[in-house]
Amino acid sequence: MSETIYDVTVIGAGPAGTQAAVSASHQMRHVLVLHSGKVSFSRGRAYWSKSVEIEDAPVFPGITGPNFAKELMRWMESRPVVNFMLGDKKHTTGIDIKDGMVTRLTRDNDLFEIEASTAALKKDKPMQLQHFRSRTAIVASGFDDKWPDIEFQADEKRLYKQYATVFRYAGNRKGWHVCIRCDGHLHVNEHLALLGVGDYIYEAAIGAQDFTDKITILTNGRPHGMSTSVLKQVQERKIQIIETKIKQHIGEKTDLLGFEMMDGTKLFFHGFLVDEGLIPNTKFLDGWDYQKDEEGLIVTNEDMQMLDSNGKPIPGLFAAGDIISGERNLIATAFALGQEAGLSASDSLRKWHYPNN
Ligand SMILES: Cc1cc2nc3c(=O)[nH]c(=O)nc-3n(C[C@H](O)[C@H](O)[C@H](O)COP(=O)(O)OP(=O)(O)OC[C@H]3O[C@@H](n4cnc5c(N)ncnc54)[C@H](O)[C@@H]3O)c2cc1C
Repeated sequence: MSETIYDVTVIGAGPAGTQAAVSASHQMRHVLVLHSGKVSFSRGRAYWSKSVEIEDAPVFPGITGPNFAKELMRWMESRPVVNFMLGDKKHTTGIDIKDGMVTRLTRDNDLFEIEASTAALKKDKPMQLQHFRSRTAIVASGFDDKWPDIEFQADEKRLYKQYATVFRYAGNRKGWHVCIRCDGHLHVNEHLALLGVGDYIYEAAIGAQDFTDKITILTNGRPHGMSTSVLKQVQERKIQIIETKIKQHIGEKTDLLGFEMMDGTKLFFHGFLVDEGLIPNTKFLDGWDYQKDEEGLIVTNEDMQMLDSNGKPIPGLFAAGDIISGERNLIATAFALGQEAGLSASDSLRKWHYPNN
């Protein structure tokens, strides 16, 4: 167990976590940031916009995911840990950044205990765990996208394995997209294939209609599952639904070009989007009684404080970014929610509060 007791521990170093850490240190708090980027595959969604430029966020023009992630790190590094005097008492402020995938968050009286795996995960090797203590904690760990289980071309297996993540996150405009709002502009008036089922996928189709009216919905062998009213609109909009199971990707180098279907037909499109749902990065909260929506995203009050199942704020526990329930958040929202969480966590540590009467 580390000797240090941090004021604020931030879990995740995407835009939400970074902003929360900077805002809390700006209020003179001693902040620990634990991020799983180098320890696990979970690098955060902001990272994965690999070669597609981020266009609609308050970041440098032309920046891509990995550079954006680097700049966020540099921003936090600009606030190193230093001591300062307040009256005659020594205090500490600044940000301690550590590689660490948080595996458990518990509370012992007034302090949070954070367990994190701090070395790269290796098959057949036990995790290297470290423990930290903190007065408050901010969950900014985002979510991962659910991916369909579609084979890569057997004869090209090695190449495709190597490029699996490139394909998945639209490393080029011919990979899989996961965010129509983010990448739709790359396919104006082009043929877009959307993968998913139910009324859920039609929500993505509605977004896609801002960019193109050439849309096909692929269900990958499942019944479409759309409600009558949605189906009526799908037909009015002349959106094709294909329920055949997909056999494998058709690709060339890192470009995805289409699919071979189980019935032998081939389908070619300009752009692919998958919307099969999400997996919240909140495993470390197992055992906590907290409010979440049907997708597992966290519900907070307006101070970004997490709530128990009775709607009561959980002392010292905050959340920000994509992990927050609501319309899918994006980078600018993640910054805004992160700032709110960083300030609220800092305020909660004040010794003196305004008198109630
Ligand atoms: C391909 C793609 C393109 C996108 N394009 C745009 C765009 O153009 N414009 C836009 O505004 N938005 C875009 N987005 C959305 C945007 O990336 C997200 O809204 C934003 O990154 C959310 O920020 P966040 O900080 O909440 O989460 P993330 O950026 O997902 O960061 C999560 C952080 O948590 C860490 N983490 C996860 N689990 C743990 C754990 N157990 N312990 C410790 N750390 C953990 C990760 O390492 C990461 O640092 C895009 C997303 C994708 C996938």
